[in-house]
Amino acid sequence: MIQLEELYRLQQLDVEINKLEDRLVSKQILKEIERVKRKVEKLKQGINDQEIKEKKLKKEIKNEEFANSRLSKQVDNYQDELYSGEGSAKELEQLQVKISEVKAEQSELEDKILSLMMELEETQNLRINKQNELVDTKEELANLHQEYEEEQNELELEINEVKEKKEEVIGCLTEEVIIKYNRLKEEKSGLVVVELKDKYCMGCGVGLPSRLVEQVRNNDQLTHCRNCGRILYWMQEEQQED
Ligand SMILES: [Zn+2]
Repeated sequence: MIQLEELYRLQQLDVEINKLEDRLVSKQILKEIERVKRKVEKLKQGINDQEIKEKKLKKEIKNEEFANSRLSKQVDNYQDELYSGEGSAKELEQLQVKISEVKAEQSELEDKILSLMMELEETQNLRINKQNELVDTKEELANLHQEYEEEQNELELEINEVKEKKEEVIGCLTEEVIIKYNRLKEEKSGLVVVELKDKYCMGCGVGLPSRLVEQVRNNDQLTHCRNCGRILYWMQEEQQED
């Protein structure tokens, strides 16, 4: 009689362990961690690309500024010559043409420098945004790792607790009953200790003869369903009221 109750309890604990172990190997949070890790790598790559672009732009601006200052010197020289008062009227006229040519070149160069600077600013802003996002994403990743670890530890503790209870129950069962239970568990998918309700086996749904029902109700020996072979039990009246 006690064997059947214990056997039923053993099954409940096995179900509980299975559920906990399913959650233990659940890849949901691991998938999330992988996704965030890929995001971190992508951001790092993006920041690196922006930095390369920034360096290139800064170098380009420096070169153009250098060219511009050379043109300024050239204008200064022409103007010195112009105001020295030396040279013929024609030479002075030529100097003025040269000055305006160089100034036009300079103005073009200044436009170019301005647009390069704007591009640099845009690139820097983009990098800063990515860097901020990287900080947030790294934090998100750390939180996920922590959450995962805590969840795993909690589940392992729970599983150990249930396993301890299971050992206690196993200690109360005879070896023969344990072997029968384990064999049925391997053969049947789902539960192997099932209720007998209104003459029907709750494992396979088949109706059983009154003699067998009586035997289950008496609860003094293990009774198997004639159809599916599962172990049958009769829910006590007081248990049903719970
Ligand atoms: Zn059955």
